[in-house]
Amino acid sequence: MLYFLRTHWILIIFVLVFTYFFWILYSLSNSNSKLTYLRDDIAKKNQNINELSNQIAFIKSKWWKNYKEKTIKSYDLTSDNSITKFVNSSVSFNDKKYVPENLESISSDFIIDSKGNWKIIKIANTYLEKMSEVFYRNFWKKIIVVSSYRSYAYQKGIKDRWCPDNLCAKAWYSEHQSGLAIDLWETTTNNEFMSKKNLKEYYKWLNKNAYKYGFHNTYQKWLEIDWYEIEPWHWRYLWVELATELKSKNITIAEYYNKIKKS
Ligand SMILES: [Zn+2]
Repeated sequence: MLYFLRTHWILIIFVLVFTYFFWILYSLSNSNSKLTYLRDDIAKKNQNINELSNQIAFIKSKWWKNYKEKTIKSYDLTSDNSITKFVNSSVSFNDKKYVPENLESISSDFIIDSKGNWKIIKIANTYLEKMSEVFYRNFWKKIIVVSSYRSYAYQKGIKDRWCPDNLCAKAWYSEHQSGLAIDLWETTTNNEFMSKKNLKEYYKWLNKNAYKYGFHNTYQKWLEIDWYEIEPWHWRYLWVELATELKSKNITIAEYYNKIKKS
């Protein structure tokens, strides 16, 4: 053996070098295929991500389309006799002399009617009664209604006599003509209303609960948004569904109307 090592050392070195060289080649090719595998894997994952985001975009667009169709179809904001009819200082009733059907007197054990003969549409009256009862059990006070349905002629009379544009709508442009709106407690400004401790508490309660009975505080975000000064006393019936939607999105009927108009 020693003799072999001594005489064939060149051969041995050659074999060793050759083996080492071969091993390096083998390792290189191995890592190369590992790299190829990783590259393929990443490409596949990328493709999956792309497919997934396409699917999400598709579902989102479909949901939005359905949502839009549903809201536009469900709520009629334009017909005079619609519970969700939108009115403000530039959107009037279609018929100047529109008079709602199903008007009935507000009469409830839990409401004080300041005139003794204020009227409101039947469905709104039903929900107003329910709300007033819960209100009464909370404060042991009756809700005082100081205004509700006002005809075109009545509104014209108010306007002609005293009421400025930022506080009272022009005749034909008043939510009160819909038979769905009520004014509660006798005050003339937001500051006056909120400076009275009890009224402030009542507003807090209504703001938290009125939507459950379909009532919405129409003018709560000032002139730029609602086109009138803030009126914590003015509430209108809108169906529970729409009032709840407005409450959950923290928007007013004017903002909702503009959103629907743009879409
Ligand atoms: Zn009002």
